[in-house]
Amino acid sequence: MTEIEFLGTGTSHGVPVIACHCPVCSSSDPRDKRWRSSILIRRGGTSVVIDTGYEFRLQALRAGIDRLDGVLYTHAHSDHLMGLDDLRVFSRDHKFSIYSTAPVLKTIENVFPYAFRDWQYKGVPAIEAVAVEERKPFAVGEIEFVPIPVMHGMMRIVGYRFGKAAYITDVSDILYDENKEVLSGIDTLVIGALRERPHWSHFSFSQAVEAAGRIGARHVYFTHINHETGHNEIEERYRGRALPAYDTLKLEVADE
Ligand SMILES: [Zn+2]
Ligand SMILES: [Zn+2]
Ligand SMILES: [Zn+2]
Repeated sequence: MTEIEFLGTGTSHGVPVIACHCPVCSSSDPRDKRWRSSILIRRGGTSVVIDTGYEFRLQALRAGIDRLDGVLYTHAHSDHLMGLDDLRVFSRDHKFSIYSTAPVLKTIENVFPYAFRDWQYKGVPAIEAVAVEERKPFAVGEIEFVPIPVMHGMMRIVGYRFGKAAYITDVSDILYDENKEVLSGIDTLVIGALRERPHWSHFSFSQAVEAAGRIGARHVYFTHINHETGHNEIEERYRGRALPAYDTLKLEVADE
């Protein structure tokens, strides 16, 4: 079995939003506290995180992450990236590997140049960037991943498939035609769904449901949710079609 734990399920602002006093930002339901989107995937002795946003340190402490075999990046927007510096605890005795497509890695190296130098100041993260290719499987420990290219507004980014599950956040176009094969057989789909209203670079809830239907996923979880709709409301509105994920939610998915 593979276990997924949602480390964060919020959009770039997080929920609550700073200085916002709307009903969702003021909600006392813990499921309406959304840190920046990220998941932890565990199988056997392997632990992998997808994306490290601003709250990575808090998320790692909350989830009790003691070891990590690698981090996969979907894209280099700051809400998915800025926690990278805290990976230094995992690179004390060897370089820590991060994985993404070459253009994303290039941006990451520009943001954190000190983490990738051969000569390093003591105490900085020692990171090895491993380039992966769209739709070409690669392994991190016991888990095989396949990068799924999707559009996020004008940007081509990636989601990741592992076994019969996939994590696709920050998406506005699934590119069905070119991804036909890699999308086939996905049973559990975690998909970015920002809000009810349309947005130019993110799926709305109903667009995400439609995409999940087209993919044929039976278990659908929204992530990267903003402050316009509370957990309960999304749950009621999309019952039977999708569930809103929330921070700390754990799921078990089949390996193959
Ligand atoms: Zn984002
Ligand atoms: Zn708000
Ligand atoms: Zn983004």
